[in-house]
Amino acid sequence: MATGKKNAGRLIIKIISRQKNLVVIVVIVIVGFSLIHKDSPRNHTPNRTEPIFALQTSAYPQHGVEPEPIRAPHAIKTSPLLLMPWRGPVEPQSTPPNAAQVVYKVSTTDPVVFVSIDDGVVQSPEILDWLTRHHLPFTMFLYNGVIKDNYQYFAKLQAAGLPVENHTLNHPHLPKLNLDQQKTEICGAADTYAQVFGRRPTLFRPPYGAFNVDTRQAAAECGMRAIVMWHATVDRGVMHFQDDIGHLEPGDIVLMHFRPEFLQDIQVLTNQVQQDKLRIGRLEDWLK
Ligand SMILES: [Zn+2]
Repeated sequence: MATGKKNAGRLIIKIISRQKNLVVIVVIVIVGFSLIHKDSPRNHTPNRTEPIFALQTSAYPQHGVEPEPIRAPHAIKTSPLLLMPWRGPVEPQSTPPNAAQVVYKVSTTDPVVFVSIDDGVVQSPEILDWLTRHHLPFTMFLYNGVIKDNYQYFAKLQAAGLPVENHTLNHPHLPKLNLDQQKTEICGAADTYAQVFGRRPTLFRPPYGAFNVDTRQAAAECGMRAIVMWHATVDRGVMHFQDDIGHLEPGDIVLMHFRPEFLQDIQVLTNQVQQDKLRIGRLEDWLK
């Protein structure tokens, strides 16, 4: 018997040494199988870092491609999470005579950031749908030349809680204009929006962020409380920061646009806001 066992052992060793490749394959298959089984329960556990909006980014941002509609099952949960309750004005700001103040960042330690959407070029049903469903208090700096044929679109957004503010009549490079021409651009848009939207804008964003001393005077004389600049932008799915910090901080003002890539931008923005443990506030409340 002992000899038989010895022989069998030798035979196995012989087979193993001749079939090394086969043994390696068998070992890989067994190890792989056990790993798959070990991992499978984890695959069903929700990943906490998953984005809240299940947006199929691959469907964006090609123009002409019907984007996947954003189903927002978490919309009701998400909005209060992102929305900063009204706490303002944190710092009442005085407007010096004949010069509107220039605000790059709101001075606050509250965990709040502000979002501005400029121009109004793209007026898609998807953007309208997202913004009216989420009720986040983004501020719209609208350029009259591109919205004048569709005021209704922006009136719906205003009704959803997005204030309409001033971004001139014709989007000029203001420092190239004299004081009176600048006043025509700024007062003209303010008067037009007062009539169209029932509320006169009080905040002004200069086109291209370009302004001079005359702009500050024109803005003040047109009744604008502040010239609002920005500290971060989101553009075609990428966040850009003004400095090397690489994240949003309390009081930051974010610039975005009504672009074809808007839904992609909004996902990137909301992810960033949540990642930085911030909420979105209404600029008008903090810049009283
Ligand atoms: Zn603009």
